[in-house]
Amino acid sequence: MGEECVFCEIIAGKIPSDIVYQDDKAVVIRDINPQAPIHLLVMPREHIPSLAQIGSDRKDLIGHLIYVANEMASREGLVQRGYRVSVNYGREGGQLVPHIHFHLLGGRQLSGALG
Ligand code: 5GP
Ligand code: ZN
Repeated sequence: MGEECVFCEIIAGKIPSDIVYQDDKAVVIRDINPQAPIHLLVMPREHIPSLAQIGSDRKDLIGHLIYVANEMASREGLVQRGYRVSVNYGREGGQLVPHIHFHLLGGRQLSGALG
């Protein structure tokens, strides 16, 4: 568990959150400050700070997270409409929480790279 990591604390149940899915490797929560009608965060249980820690040993985990994001999009009825799965990295990439996560955004027209 990452020290003082808000997502680790959510995963551990120490901070309340709207957890919409979990399995042995992944947890999905609703974003507290949604940027679209559907805004979920798909993250590993393991505390991995960012994309910088993704080596060949974690390719399967990243594939699983994308798979889960697709499943969530399906559950939320977004497949026909379309949706976005994105990950921010680093300061200029806009990453605020240092526990890797995929944003799943949908339910409105997203435009450009920023939506
Ligand atoms: P980042 O900028 O790191 O890619 O995205 C972090 C996201 O986490 C933001 O969209 C922010 O609203 C969300 N977030 C930050 N703290 C919390 C929290 O305590 N609970 C939930 N559900 N979302 C959070
Ligand atoms: Zn963490």
